[in-house]
Amino acid sequence: MDIHQKDTVTRGHFLRSVGILTAGIMFAPREMFGQTSPVNTIIAAAAKDPITVQALRGNIHVLEGSGGNIAVFNGPDGMLMVDAGISVSQKKIESAMAGISAAPLKYLINTHWHFDHADGNEWVHNAGATIIAHENTKENLSKSIRVKDWNYTFKPHTKAGLPTVVFQNEHTLKFNGSQIQMQYYPPAHTDSDISVYFPEADVLHVADTWWNSYYPFIDHDSGGTLNGMISACDHNLKVTTDKTIIIPGHGAVGNRTQLREFRDMLLSIRENVSKLKKAGRSLKDTIAAKPTKAFDARFGNFVLDGAFFTKLVYADV
Ligand SMILES: [Zn+2]
Repeated sequence: MDIHQKDTVTRGHFLRSVGILTAGIMFAPREMFGQTSPVNTIIAAAAKDPITVQALRGNIHVLEGSGGNIAVFNGPDGMLMVDAGISVSQKKIESAMAGISAAPLKYLINTHWHFDHADGNEWVHNAGATIIAHENTKENLSKSIRVKDWNYTFKPHTKAGLPTVVFQNEHTLKFNGSQIQMQYYPPAHTDSDISVYFPEADVLHVADTWWNSYYPFIDHDSGGTLNGMISACDHNLKVTTDKTIIIPGHGAVGNRTQLREFRDMLLSIRENVSKLKKAGRSLKDTIAAKPTKAFDARFGNFVLDGAFFTKLVYADV
């Protein structure tokens, strides 16, 4: 396990540097306020970025390079994916998975409905996977949704891309000799977030309730709230130990120490923004006061910069 952890840390540093470089291409923050949608630039980046594969433990790997982090679990029954990434990455994901195992693809679990986690649903289903998700993921993928903060309207998925096994609070899947546990978070990043836990390996995928070392997006248009994000972090801290490997929705695979730093950042910024708003500051003045300043160097180098995150927090306090 020590070796794995060492690998994880080394690779985390590497991926973080790549992430920051890529972020420069993917998400110029000004685009978030402008006419173009970052969704198109994220798709374009996925079309050209390589897929990297990181071995964790217990036959679990993480694939990065197609939107959110994809976990792959293989064994005698076949392969299971947690999230499908973006469909333009299909060939690269297929070849990365073939490098892990020749076993057939059997299941896909969606951690939530967002395109950078579920856009690939259709091809993954056509490759043999039964799709499992929270019932709100199915609902959100079935309809057209406008996400104002992304300046983008998502079209409904085809039938092949929709989950066929859905649940409300929790669901257990027996697969590859494991009892994989799925649990719903009350609204946090969206209204459809679930965690996926592999007990034998002690690996927890926490969806987009955690962006390791990055300010998170909070999707107000589909029920997300800052307080929900903080509650989800508290829950994640409660159900893990210092030995648990935690897969964030975005950013390097990490641990509780990093997760705690993320939670504490959310608490500090909530307090800073709340004070300014209660003192009667407008959104513009609140952004100008730089309530995220102490954290920008650490967390502001990916999708959201401090100004944009302030805007999201201001709406929630
Ligand atoms: Zn998301």
